Amino acid sequence: MKTKNAVKDLKPYQPNEVPYTIKLDANESENYLFPKGVCLDYLEFNLYPDSQASALRKSIERFIQVDQSLIIAGNGSSEMIELILKTFIEPNDKILSFEPSFSMYSIFSKIYFADYIAVPSEDDFSLDMNKMINLAKKVNPKIIFICSPNNPTGFLFNQNDILKLVQNTQALVVVDEAYIEFSSQQKSLITHVSSYENLIVLRTLSKAFGLAGARLGYLVSNQGIVNALNRVKSPYNLNSITQYIGIQALSQVEKMREFTNQIIENKKVLNQDLVTLGFQTYPSEANFIFFRSDIPDLFEVLVERKILIRKFTKPMDGYYRVTVGNSEQNQILIKNLKEIIHEKSSC
Ligand code: PMP
Repeated sequence: MKTKNAVKDLKPYQPNEVPYTIKLDANESENYLFPKGVCLDYLEFNLYPDSQASALRKSIERFIQVDQSLIIAGNGSSEMIELILKTFIEPNDKILSFEPSFSMYSIFSKIYFADYIAVPSEDDFSLDMNKMINLAKKVNPKIIFICSPNNPTGFLFNQNDILKLVQNTQALVVVDEAYIEFSSQQKSLITHVSSYENLIVLRTLSKAFGLAGARLGYLVSNQGIVNALNRVKSPYNLNSITQYIGIQALSQVEKMREFTNQIIENKKVLNQDLVTLGFQTYPSEANFIFFRSDIPDLFEVLVERKILIRKFTKPMDGYYRVTVGNSEQNQILIKNLKEIIHEKSSC
């Protein structure tokens, strides 16, 4: 996969990694504000973090069963999306995705002067991979973003359809699996990365692991792509606290599974309650439900009741996305929706 010209001769930043007794090579200072015994003893805040996040990548390796040499970790999958564009996109290259999908694909495309083209969803918000394959043949894109499960609809692609795209395009196919742990099959494309020249999978700990504030995401790809991306990645991109938190989180995968199973159960109940109240919901394989409502100003009325959901604007007005909460939160939402419907029908 050809990187953009400007980065083709770059070498990855290489910190000194030799044993030492006195470390005077990186303009670091003494740990005088947070000495041992004050806070987080296991971290040396005065020293730069491990630039390659090796221990963390080892933990990720154990979790996903893919060799750590094929993993890059960063500040959320957002940093990984930007790193991919930074490495591969020249001005006026084409980037494809579906519509609606995660908004940052088009925003980063603009920032990197790429032409962003979206394939519209079907009327039921399912996404047609054949349309994407045909468009890709016509416009020869550099990158294609596939979000599966898709944000904001929850639509999950069939794995074989994604692989068909990968096999039928020269473009780099970036599969964003931010919500995969909530999907019923949890079938990730991660195990396929070494078999293709042009496949990157993005994952995050922001959703299923509940670590959105720690900012931790990662990508997995073949060795050639990972090497190219490492030449462009900022040194020390992931701070030591996040590396530590990530390792701790990945040692509790069982708890994560319990949590995602609970959310899947809660989603069934919430979906049924929304349908009973007359909302049109769409099948979701993520931790949210996409739905339609004719209630005027539903978002604003809920805000007055201190409840936040996501609303969409033209051409998707009338559509909403609600995160599946714990059962208490979901019950409060449903109770308020009932009251709103009752009020509207009586005025
Ligand atoms: N991809 C998708 C599909 C998302 O919905 C989000 C967050 N909303 C992200 C990536 C970014 O997540 P993060 O940077 O927190 O890993």
